Parts: sequence; structure tokens; C-alpha cells
Amino acid sequence: ATETHQQPEVNIGLVGHVDHGKTTLVQALSGSWTDQHSEEMKRGISIRLGYADATFRKCPGVDEPEGFTVDETCPDGSESEALRTVSFVDAPGHETLMATMLSGAALMDGAVLVVSATEQVPQAQTEEHLMALDIIGVENIVIAQNKIDLVDREQAVRNHEQIEEFVEGTVAEDAPIVPISAQQGVNMDLLIDAIEREIPTPDRDEGDAARMFVARSFDINRPGTTWEDLKGGVVGGSLVDGTLEAGEEIELRPGREVEEEGQSEWRPITTEVRSLQAGSQSVDVASPGGLLGVGTGLDPSLTKGDALAGQVAGEPGTLPPTHEAFEMDVELLDRVVGEDGDEIEEISTGEPLMLTVGTATTVGAVTSARSGECEVSLKRPVCAESGSKIAINRRVGARWRLIGIGTLK
Ligand code: GDP
Ligand code: MG
Repeated sequence: ATETHQQPEVNIGLVGHVDHGKTTLVQALSGSWTDQHSEEMKRGISIRLGYADATFRKCPGVDEPEGFTVDETCPDGSESEALRTVSFVDAPGHETLMATMLSGAALMDGAVLVVSATEQVPQAQTEEHLMALDIIGVENIVIAQNKIDLVDREQAVRNHEQIEEFVEGTVAEDAPIVPISAQQGVNMDLLIDAIEREIPTPDRDEGDAARMFVARSFDINRPGTTWEDLKGGVVGGSLVDGTLEAGEEIELRPGREVEEEGQSEWRPITTEVRSLQAGSQSVDVASPGGLLGVGTGLDPSLTKGDALAGQVAGEPGTLPPTHEAFEMDVELLDRVVGEDGDEIEEISTGEPLMLTVGTATTVGAVTSARSGECEVSLKRPVCAESGSKIAINRRVGARWRLIGIGTLK
């Protein structure tokens, strides 16, 4: 193919229970395996959010939905036409990684909920992830009923009914349910058709000020690089508004913690955009959609090891305020999601909560609690707009469990 790779224009999350086939599906659609991290390989789960792009295409002269494909060559030998490039955000399914899933959900314009036809519905993270989509406000959902190669017709029908029953009254109530086998590549055309219909590219105003949620940050220099050859720090994430251009100045909030005369304070960081990497391509201007890597003029020690993950970047002076403490309206779930299903007690003063706001996850201590609202003091501040949704997690036994939804006052 001589055609240049298009920049992805929409982010689609892959969510669902561990082992139901999210990563296999991303691979079937994009040809790349998102479990790249060596530790992930070892553990067989996607620890960090994996990204992979896919260009959806259509074979001319073939009726829909059969004409949808990711292949460049059609069965009759003709060349397929590119429709749009999408970026998949492959969320981890492991229960302790809910915070990662929630920060990924902030970047999703829509989601494919993968449900294995071989198991009872819902499994714990099927339910928890659907609830997270609801909280974050991801409404465009397609359900992929996977592994249909492993069940007979009767089991498939029963499983389909269980899925319908489970999503009743949820944000996925009207979502299409597409039977597929990600491993065998069965019904990929139907799935692409459903995604094309249900998950449109959002309307974005490129004239708006740039707003980027930082999900990763790193130091790309090899150990021992001399200072003349040292490359600036890199931040990775998703642009949700506006455009970013090489050479432009950006601000990052909350920024960095500085100590002065025994007092510590968070100060925004300002730096220059030196390079932009969209998908696998170097670009001069980046628009929303997909994963964006921004090469900056920052000292790489500032960006090392995801140190800036959770921050917000954009045109200086246009970012929301930084909060070291905030008040939020609280809506508690009826019960803890999962097998135990315990009732959720009111939030009490003094208790620690884990809060996810945008791509930021921070622990806060409750300084005051009333029914339906509370105030928290944060260990690490967050940059967020009034009205932002907050996922509230409480420590239950050995792990953090989602207990409710907050709205920043
Ligand atoms: P994830 O945890 O949701 O990302 O699940 P994976 O994509 O890692 O898949 C878990 C296991 O299920 C792997 O061994 C896959 O090969 C297998 N698998 C995924 N999709 C299918 C399918 O459609 N049919 C069959 N038979 N196996 C599948
Ligand atoms: Mg996976």
C-alpha cells in the first residue's frame, strides 16, 4: 500500500472481564499485539493501557456489512477503500487494575464490551467495567459476544439472552450484540459495521484551546547518553480538544512539586513542543484521536517512569485549576460490584479514598462528610474542571473497590 497512514480520529476502549478476548480482538482488527510490556507478557494481562490503531476499510461493490474489512485487498483482488482510522485503548481486565481502566475510560469516545460466550454473565469485571463506562459517560457501546467458536448454537442463544438481561437498564441497554470469534476472525465485518454505526467520530472544534490528558510519560534516552545528545522528556496521552503544533508552548498542570524554605508547593510547568508522534508517524500538527507522543524541552528526569501521568497539558493560561483539596457531590452505588455484593456504607470523615479524575489517580483523606457530599484533602493534587466526574474507590479488605461517583463542585 502506498497510501499514507491516517491519523486516528476516534478512541475506542476494549473493556470486559480478563481472558474474554480483548487483546485478541485488538490484534485481529489491527494486526498488532498490545501486550508489549515484557512484564505484561509474562503475566499475560495488559498492565498498562495498550494502544493500537486500525484502519477500517470497505470493499467497493460488496454489500454492507460484508464489505467491511481491515484488509487492503478484497476477496476479488481489488483494493479496498479506507473509511477511517480508529485507535483502540485496550484496558486491563484484572480486578486490581480498575484505576488504570478508569483513567483509560477518560480517553474513550466509545467502547467495545467483550463478553465471552463460554461463561455465565456477568463476570465481575464485565459488570465493573460497564459501571465505569457509565460513570465516565461513555455511551456509545458495542457488545462483542466472543468465543462463539467454542459454544454450540443453544449455548450461544442462552448467553445472548443473559447479556440482554444484564445490560437492561444500563448505559449499554441499546447496544448491538455481535457474535464473533476474535481468534478465528469470524464476523469481523459485522463488528466493524456495528462500530461504524454506534461509535461516530465526535464533533471537535479544532479552534478550541488544546487540551491533552497525559496517561504516560517517559525518558527515551539510553543510560549513559551524554548531555549534548540528551533528548527532552516525552509525554504520551490523548488530545481531547484543539490541535497541537510543533514549536508551540505548552503548560502542564499540576506541574511539579517545589520545596522552598521547608514549604512545598505545586507549580505548573511550561515547555516547548519539540516533536509530535501520532500513532506511528511523526507529524507537525496533531489533532484529537489516538495516542499522541509529545517530545518536549523538559529535563527527562521530570518525565521518567510515568512521573507526569495524570496531568493535563494545553495552551498556557487555559487549563483548569489545580486542586489540593476539593468538595464533591457523591452518588454511592447500591452495592459493591462483584461476587460478594456487600452493601455500601456512607463515606465517613477520616477515611482514605482512591479517586480517579481524568487520567489522574490520587488518594484523598475525607475531611468532612455529609450525606450526598464530601470534602477530601489530596495526597497529590489534580487539575480538573468543575463538573468533572470522579470515580470513588474505598479499601475493602485487601483491595480498592469502586463505591460511587463524585462530581467536582
Ligand atoms: P483479555 O484478557 O480479555 O485481553 O483476553 P485475551 O485476548 O488475552 O484472550 C484470552 C485467551 O482466550 C487467549 O488464550 C486467547 O487465545 C483466547 N481467545 C480469545 N478470543 C478467542 C476466540 O474467539 N475463540 C477462542 N477459542 N479463544 C479465544
Ligand atoms: Mg488483554
